[in-house]
Amino acid sequence: MRQPFFAANWKMNKSIAESGAFISSLVDKLGESASGIGSQFAVVVAPPYTHLGLLADSVGDSRVQISAQNCGVAKSGAFTGEISPSVLKELGCDWAIIGHSERRHVFKEDEILLVARSKAALTESLGVIFCVGETLQDRRAGNTMKVVEGQLRSLGQLSGNSLSRMVLAYEPVWAIGTGENATPAQAEEVHAFMREWVGKAFSKDAAEAVRILYGGSVKPDNAEVIMAQPDVDGLLVGGASLEPVTFAGVVLGGLKGKKLR
Ligand code: PEP
Repeated sequence: MRQPFFAANWKMNKSIAESGAFISSLVDKLGESASGIGSQFAVVVAPPYTHLGLLADSVGDSRVQISAQNCGVAKSGAFTGEISPSVLKELGCDWAIIGHSERRHVFKEDEILLVARSKAALTESLGVIFCVGETLQDRRAGNTMKVVEGQLRSLGQLSGNSLSRMVLAYEPVWAIGTGENATPAQAEEVHAFMREWVGKAFSKDAAEAVRILYGGSVKPDNAEVIMAQPDVDGLLVGGASLEPVTFAGVVLGGLKGKKLR
């Protein structure tokens, strides 16, 4: 079974002072309710860049890992405003989110840039959470799979070893921060398609192993049904990840969906 993976994307929220108490509260909450499940699931928190060092120090030897929300394209150089993957590593980061819909649509990051960011992160031994997803217009036009395939295509140039250090995330743009989540069946349809794409582009084993997260208005009360889908291996959570009790509720609901609780 693929290890369930739950990621909290704080986006540009929380002051450094506010973030301090989050980890210990989350760890307490998960410790109480998920004891006995051991290492069977992963929890990742992605704060703003400025909070990474503090949070990486505060996770200690708990199960919580830390992710950046993006990653520079090279170790160093003339890239004003970018953050080096080696510095992310130095800060104690384990992961980088690449290609979030806000990076694609608000900041116009394209496939060439996103694959360069992914390669740079992987070179510095960061794991990559690579996001794809269609707009409402794409879905209404019946273009969901075409758009998702187009966003995945650039990953085909990576090695199988690189892919094994990546997690894919399906985040329909129309479901992010809108309160309107994809139905479990809609999520499953796209996840199965993504897994099939990995099978064709890499191998059957890679398709079987790759974890595919769903993101888009996930909350404690819908986590279980979404995670019950066979090709949904985890959840990428925005709004509901800002409070430790709510995020822990998503994790515990998701584990229930996989019959781990
Ligand atoms: C996200 O930002 O990745 C996200 C899924 O946000 P939300 O959970 O708020 O829809």
